[in-house]
Amino acid sequence: MTVAVYPGTFDPLTCGHMDIIERTAALMDKVIVGIYENPGKRPLFSLGQRVNLVEQAVAGLSNVEVKAFKGLTVDFIHQEGGRIMIRGLRANSDFEREFEMALMNRKLAPDIELLCLMTSSQYQFLSSSLIKEVAKLGGCLEGMVPTHVAVALQEKFSAPVGLALGKDEV
Ligand code: ADP
Repeated sequence: MTVAVYPGTFDPLTCGHMDIIERTAALMDKVIVGIYENPGKRPLFSLGQRVNLVEQAVAGLSNVEVKAFKGLTVDFIHQEGGRIMIRGLRANSDFEREFEMALMNRKLAPDIELLCLMTSSQYQFLSSSLIKEVAKLGGCLEGMVPTHVAVALQEKFSAPVGLALGKDEV
């Protein structure tokens, strides 16, 4: 059975993340979305909230599980019985950092293989940090985050996010 772990901060989950999760789920027997605490990034959403938002989004995907973890990502992958780490790549912004991390992870755990999926073009410029900025300023997030994530952002900033709630992308 091929078990892949997709680790990240997911603060919050975007449609770019969802695209990677869905494409991985179509390739692997089981996908575990691993959400790390990452206090260094001072997340807007608590670990529990981030887990909850991803759980709601993947409810329809039977081979996807969501788990929080602390410590080294490679240790978490071993613990879950996986050998494959999934990361998403946007042009320009991600490659060098991912490459550096991949080489370090290879030193730490040579048995774990990294698979990077290229972003779909419509999500190329989508990042959680940009989403938070737009949400804070009340911009429309339609098509960029699942509807329930937009609602959670709206509640965080307690200002209208200008969402058309009719469409559900999840
Ligand atoms: P991290 O703090 O580990 O970078 P993120 O939640 O920001 O956590 O991202 C998790 C993974 O998802 C990373 O591999 C990142 O490159 C990827 N990712 C983020 N946004 C997108 C996107 N729009 N398209 C494809 N992959 C993405």
